[in-house]
Amino acid sequence: AARENGTVLARFDASIAARYTERLQLAGRIHTAIDQGEFELHFQPIYHAADRSPAALEALLRWPQADGSFIAPGDFIRLCEDTGLIVALGRWVIHAAARAQRQLADQGWGGLPIAVNISAVQLFNSDLVAEFSRATEAWDLPPGALQLELTESAVMRNPAQALQTLQALKENGIGAALDDFGTGFSSMSYLQHLPLDSLKIDRDFVCDVERNPRNAAICRALLSLGHSMGLNVIAEGVESEGQLAWLAAHGCDQVQGYLLGRPMPLEAVRVALDQHRSV
Ligand code: C2E
Ligand code: CA
Ligand code: CA
Ligand code: CA
Repeated sequence: AARENGTVLARFDASIAARYTERLQLAGRIHTAIDQGEFELHFQPIYHAADRSPAALEALLRWPQADGSFIAPGDFIRLCEDTGLIVALGRWVIHAAARAQRQLADQGWGGLPIAVNISAVQLFNSDLVAEFSRATEAWDLPPGALQLELTESAVMRNPAQALQTLQALKENGIGAALDDFGTGFSSMSYLQHLPLDSLKIDRDFVCDVERNPRNAAICRALLSLGHSMGLNVIAEGVESEGQLAWLAAHGCDQVQGYLLGRPMPLEAVRVALDQHRSV
């Protein structure tokens, strides 16, 4: 039995080693990809729920591969956070979002803020105010041209420092949304003190909202909580007319999801916005 155990352990070790090597190799590829500018941003429109007019855009990272496919952020962000690569990648994202904003403004679509996702590691290990200011100044944009999205869990990792950073950002005209709202464990007493502009209700609660009483109860509670704090409430992952109708009827301010537009390259965003204008 002892020998069998040894074999099992050896196999276990080998698989851990293989996984470790794999992660190390991927981290190396990401490093090179950042240096060589391989990453791209796609943009998903956020619309006003009441009249479906465009309200903002969310920037989402894509890593194009040689075969034409994309690696989704879910498959590399975590590793970037664990290795610290997210600081360099995040800096690139902020600048790429500002560059996109410049192009949109030049084409008559300025004034729609672009929201950038920020992970906890960036929040606590970089000077976000400086990063955002440098990017907007470099592209000759007002500070409000970029916003950030922070998850509840990122904020709760160090609430005191999150508060300080959010305050500094606000003083510099940079708005913030709390992402994946409802999935974390932030205490209400804390939320109340954060200088936020928006709450984003997580897709898990939006799916089936018009048919699922439990999700409807959660969405109603999150909407009322957000509005009582004077915040803009955004529902994400809206995939059906039924969901959108429910959300609009319950006073949700903005919506985002495959129903109204998937994340797309900047060119396609412009076409979508132009079509919208001509309707
Ligand atoms: P997130 O910030 O919650 O972004 C929303 C995700 O939902 C995106 O996935 C988006 O493509 C997807 N989505 C939007 N509408 C729908 C819908 O109607 N149905 C469904 N099923 N999905 C929808 P994506 O692009 O794969 O991004 C996944 C996560 O990766 C993001 O979640 C965000 O946490 C992270 N991420 C993306 N870009 C960045 C980035 O630049 N920096 C950082 N730190 N994280 C990023
Ligand atoms: Ca987000
Ligand atoms: Ca989200
Ligand atoms: Ca989510």
